[in-house]
Amino acid sequence: MAFRTSPSDPSDSGEHATERCVYCLGNAEIGEDQILARGRLLYLCAPLGQLTEGYLVIAPYQCIGSLSQLPVQAFPELARLKRIVEGFYHATYRVEPATYYEQGRAGGGAATDAANGFPLHAHLCCLPVTLDLHSILARNCTGQDLSGPHELLPAARGEPYVYVESMDAFGRYRRSVYRADSDEARMELRHMRLKPTIAELMNLPGRGDWRCYPGDQELQQLVMKFGAHRLEVVNKWHGDEADCLPNDKESIMAEAVEEIKRLATIARAYRDAGDPAAAAGALEQGIDALEAALTEKEGARNAAGSADADAGEAAIAVHLADLYGMLGGTLREEGNYLAAAAAYDRGFRLESDPRYAMQSTYNALNRLTARILLCPGCLADPDLLRTERDLEFVYVRHALADLSARLHRQVSGARAGDFWAAGDLSVTCALNGDEQGMYHGLEEFIRLSPPPTVYDAYRHSIEALARLDTPRKALLLTSGRAWSRQ
Ligand SMILES: [Zn+2]
Repeated sequence: MAFRTSPSDPSDSGEHATERCVYCLGNAEIGEDQILARGRLLYLCAPLGQLTEGYLVIAPYQCIGSLSQLPVQAFPELARLKRIVEGFYHATYRVEPATYYEQGRAGGGAATDAANGFPLHAHLCCLPVTLDLHSILARNCTGQDLSGPHELLPAARGEPYVYVESMDAFGRYRRSVYRADSDEARMELRHMRLKPTIAELMNLPGRGDWRCYPGDQELQQLVMKFGAHRLEVVNKWHGDEADCLPNDKESIMAEAVEEIKRLATIARAYRDAGDPAAAAGALEQGIDALEAALTEKEGARNAAGSADADAGEAAIAVHLADLYGMLGGTLREEGNYLAAAAAYDRGFRLESDPRYAMQSTYNALNRLTARILLCPGCLADPDLLRTERDLEFVYVRHALADLSARLHRQVSGARAGDFWAAGDLSVTCALNGDEQGMYHGLEEFIRLSPPPTVYDAYRHSIEALARLDTPRKALLLTSGRAWSRQ
């Protein structure tokens, strides 16, 4: 994952100096996965240094030193992005009010951090906790209440500052800028590191430096939860611009689909890290969100009296089928073949729905192989599967014959260049006792030069099936050897 490479607040470091600006996206210090929303001038990201899960940053694309120097047209967008964060914090962490601050080290015109030589790039830090930062800052600085960051330019008076939106000691929520009274205090303000202080205030000492505590786990959870939350927002969105960026609804939908892709990446990372339960959890969260989105879309379409799925609905269905397929694979790896078969069934229902016109046979084949793994005898006696009362009954041999006919047509037609179709054909034919078809599929598969990981996935799948006591054992063993030779 790209998470590792992205420090959150370089100015918190006391040791290493670097010339590369973390928040200039061109430097790729912040991974694509970490960018949660893009406006026209500003973006929202989940940086490393998750002292607590939910730490977010809003920054301009342009390397502007402090929020006080932002162009005036950036402030409405800053407010919109902040409302997105507020909505997320409220819905996900039940926090109200949250804490926001900016260390305006560049408020006096400095371009680099006084201690480390880091380029200064404005960023508003967002934390899903209710803290009193005013009392800390008021000790050495003079505070002035503002109505928002758009007033920073005159209020900072060309000096380094700290901008805070948080609860105060009297339980009032205040937006204030803090400036130093003396040259000495100004120097201090330019060197001050607020995050370790906040970590201590939260009773989490040692988490204030991203190098000591990057918080990868928290970061993954955060990205996942944000994706699910945004989908929910999109689902409920009825033209109210309050928590949307200045895009239309379709582009927000596209953004949500991107977030789901990111979620799938996270699930894969969990799987690779040997934590299938966490992977399944991530996938189920995405599935819930997409199911809700699909229901909403269908409802809107029915209300409009249309029978055809639009592009947005079809896109959701494709991603949903993918997630069910991934969930099935995760459960199969855990040895939970019953749940795996049920997950593939859900994916198959979408895959075979003519409204979505999908070509994929991934769930169609795997719902059958999961049943064979669950009950190897079903290839000889299909009725054996009837004892699995929690699972839809499928006459596996007939389904394999149908699938094989469909794949033969696809491989010489619409999916001629698709190695997945060729691989699925080879496996299906081996399970059908069709040796010629098995070799034909394998040859096509090899001809299309698939990536090694896909190749391994098929080989493992065939080897697992060949270990079972089925009437196709001999051909599956032959098939396994043929796949191993490649
Ligand atoms: Zn920068």
